[in-house]
Amino acid sequence: MLDSELLASIQQLVEKKIGRSIQLGPTRTVSGGCINHAIILETDIGLSLFVKWNEQAPGSLFECETDGLTAIRLTRSLRVPEVIGSGVSAHGVQFLVLEAIQTAAPGAHFEQQLGRQLAELHRHGVAEEFGFARSNFIGSTPQPNRWNSSWIEFWKSCRLGYQLDLARNNGYGDHRFSRLADRVLDRMDDLLSHEVQPALIHGDLWSGNYLADEKGNPVLLDPAVYFADREAEFGMTTLFGGLSHWFYDAYQEIWPMQAGSDDRIEIYRLYHLLNHLNLFGTSYLADCLQIMQKYA
Ligand code: ADP
Repeated sequence: MLDSELLASIQQLVEKKIGRSIQLGPTRTVSGGCINHAIILETDIGLSLFVKWNEQAPGSLFECETDGLTAIRLTRSLRVPEVIGSGVSAHGVQFLVLEAIQTAAPGAHFEQQLGRQLAELHRHGVAEEFGFARSNFIGSTPQPNRWNSSWIEFWKSCRLGYQLDLARNNGYGDHRFSRLADRVLDRMDDLLSHEVQPALIHGDLWSGNYLADEKGNPVLLDPAVYFADREAEFGMTTLFGGLSHWFYDAYQEIWPMQAGSDDRIEIYRLYHLLNHLNLFGTSYLADCLQIMQKYA
């Protein structure tokens, strides 16, 4: 609930950041997020704030989001909202305050622009190893990011193996699931073997995590960043669809995919399906098993 305690904490944080006092104005509820409550909050100085909060947020959820947005911003490839700050209210509610993006209809070449700029993000976000400076979250599931010089080892321990273990702990580890899980993990060395360099990916790119700003240009939201095989990005973009060939063609004009990417992307999709299984339940089990069966 957006109570006076929380509003006071938000006001204090914003005033500290901008160095002057403000009055908070009207609020408008925003829907569409999967995890948190969100509002747009007006101020008397013409600054619109996007505020989200969570009474039961896992520790550091919003600090991780801040670090992810900052990492993307530093690549100067794609717009992300400016972070005003994050904090905890007197009643222990975690919150995050961002610049509110004024939205408009997507421009005529929105998808191409998103595709091109995403390729720029992947090209400019470089690191020595796979992982990230801190572990973060995918939705509300922890996402470990221990640095690793081997992409396949990283994928097996921090991504696929991690979600498979979670699924087993969540009660999905019957004989069939466990047998397929073990076999599919064993096959990763073969299936993911290709030339790969660490590239910064958004990590959770679906239609709820981008929007069009006041000029109709793309803005990325709510990332789960890490340095990855860039093809891992498309495990999520292809999970629910929504982006057309314009997006993929524009991406490939900047940085073509390597041969065999379709199979790898399906494996990367399995990570997100398992995460949905772990977060939202059995309706995702059949899709998980289908990919596991295919690659086991
Ligand atoms: P959650 O963490 O709950 O998934 P999101 O960060 O995805 O929440 O935000 C939920 C929705 O709020 C998004 O789908 C988008 O429509 C809107 N939104 C997110 N950030 C902003 C922003 N900075 N400005 C305006 N709208 C935003």
